[in-house]
Amino acid sequence: MSKKTIQYCGIPIEYTLTRKSVKNTNVRINEKGEIRVSARNGLPIEEINDFIESKAEWIIRTLAAVERYNMTKPDSEIYEGKKCYYLGEACVVEIKQSDMDFIEKNENIIKISSRQPNQRDIIKVQYLSWLKKEAAPVFNNSVMRMHSLAAKENIPIPAISIRNMKTRWGSCNPRSEKVTLNLQLMKADLECIDHVVLHELMHFKYSNHGKDFYALIHKYMPDWKEHRKRLNEKFKDGI
Ligand SMILES: [Zn+2]
Repeated sequence: MSKKTIQYCGIPIEYTLTRKSVKNTNVRINEKGEIRVSARNGLPIEEINDFIESKAEWIIRTLAAVERYNMTKPDSEIYEGKKCYYLGEACVVEIKQSDMDFIEKNENIIKISSRQPNQRDIIKVQYLSWLKKEAAPVFNNSVMRMHSLAAKENIPIPAISIRNMKTRWGSCNPRSEKVTLNLQLMKADLECIDHVVLHELMHFKYSNHGKDFYALIHKYMPDWKEHRKRLNEKFKDGI
């Protein structure tokens, strides 16, 4: 393996070359935006460079797409200076060394004190367990609020479980009278949380997502679509 660079219209294209017993020269770009070229043993470097030049437009387009993807990819890490939402409020994470592990929120600063401030995975576990404790009263209050809003429906008060989920904001199991809420909802404002809770409670009446189901949600929360949109656009990113 060796690193090579060619210039294409003044843009340097750096690639890693691997010699193999292959017939065709091949270029690939990985998810980090690294260019990997494989070529047969003995193929002159000029021919390899000509090949790359013939692919240069595609390479530049692909690199731009990789960069765009990496910029919009949900960031699920917790680190010093990270911007995140807490109940709809934009906050910044501060991490400092301490002889005790604790987290406190002061206005819009989430201060993480940790014995291992440089261990990202440990910090993340610490953050998630703190967030789960914060979430319990918030989610409980939302369930009570939505339950009394729709008191006429005679829905039982469900048991709530909180999980950090990747694909759903919530789920409902009417048979076991249980509602599961995504810990990630803690990023969103209370109206967004109420909307998810109301949605799950209404599954006690309708298990599907039919017309009657949405009519019932609309009856108690006419602006539910706005909350759903905000939730999925503004608060979608990881943690
Ligand atoms: Zn549903």
